Amino acid sequence: MPGILIVAETSAGAVAPISFELLGAARQLSAQGAGSVSAVVAGGEAEAKALIAHGAEAVYTADAALAGQPADASLAAVEAALQASGADIVLVGTTSFGRDLGPALAFRQKTGIAMDCTELKIEGGRLRATRGCYGGNARAEHTWKAPLQIATVKPKSFDAPEPDAGRSGAITASGAAGESKVKVLGVAKAESTGIRLEDAQVVVSGGRGLGDESGFRALEELASVLPQAAVGASRAACDLGWYPPAAQVGLTGKVVSPNLYIAIAISGASQHMAGMAGSKNIVAINKDPDANMVKAAKFAIVDDYKKVVPALIEEIKKLG
Ligand SMILES: Cc1cc2nc3c(=O)[nH]c(=O)nc-3n(C[C@H](O)[C@H](O)[C@H](O)COP(=O)(O)OP(=O)(O)OC[C@H]3O[C@@H](n4cnc5c(N)ncnc54)[C@H](O)[C@@H]3O)c2cc1C
Repeated sequence: MPGILIVAETSAGAVAPISFELLGAARQLSAQGAGSVSAVVAGGEAEAKALIAHGAEAVYTADAALAGQPADASLAAVEAALQASGADIVLVGTTSFGRDLGPALAFRQKTGIAMDCTELKIEGGRLRATRGCYGGNARAEHTWKAPLQIATVKPKSFDAPEPDAGRSGAITASGAAGESKVKVLGVAKAESTGIRLEDAQVVVSGGRGLGDESGFRALEELASVLPQAAVGASRAACDLGWYPPAAQVGLTGKVVSPNLYIAIAISGASQHMAGMAGSKNIVAINKDPDANMVKAAKFAIVDDYKKVVPALIEEIKKLG
């Protein structure tokens, strides 16, 4: 019986958000006739139950010690789950783990893989996957000739389903063991303070039009008076060294879909839009009324940000 297998990941001992987003994508495909939804995870009952609450109908658990190891160590466990589930679609996150695991799995299974997908649908009983290409200026659609269809899915492309602890599903422990050919010599964690950009409900983003890095201090102050807010940046601003590359939003940066995206002195190049076009509400602050970001925005303030941002901070502070 065909179906969808998602490859779940864990982070700091809990199921990582990307896994729930993959379940969101899988449930949409299932509703279009792609069959049942199963998941494989390096973890135990707690992780399996979290996946079931988010929509998995069956979960295959593998040795928890595989979590955090290089992706090739998990290949045998994923292949065992693939065989047991009979799935003909495998969804993997576009993460450092998934970028390694997906192509290796496709090679071993003698099929193709579509990487960095942002849209998935079933057409004629088969998967059709869409991703950006040519620097975000075009969209490529992929279908598979081989029976097995594998795709990596960009974070924030699909909403995670609401969890329901009342859902039930089968949990099967897999004995598949695996070893990595990679030796990890050390792990350096990127330093970050405050709320993660990807998790923020409000993103205050700055671009080259800020003029210099001091402009970002004003944006940080604006973010500090807004709830659940983080600061992002365009690639131009990051390349100039005004803000850390980890804050870059766009095709070659982070993908965010907050409730509110405030784009300040950002022109709205397609490569930037690729990282934030899914935001629920876009507000542009820009001197140029013809800037692409102004056209894409729900609300725009056409003026110098140096005048607008301090006034905005004052007004928000008054609201308490
Ligand atoms: C392969 C590839 C990948 C890329 N990936 C990314 C990516 O991931 N993310 C990304 O951001 N870019 C990416 N880029 C770069 C992208 O094409 C743009 O060059 C970049 O986004 C421009 O950044 P910007 O909007 O900050 O600067 P600009 O395009 O220079 O825009 C500055 C804006 O500020 C406004 N402005 C100026 N002064 C003020 C003021 N005082 N007050 C208010 N507004 C003002 C101007 O009107 C203008 O609209 C990529 C490019 C390539 C080729």
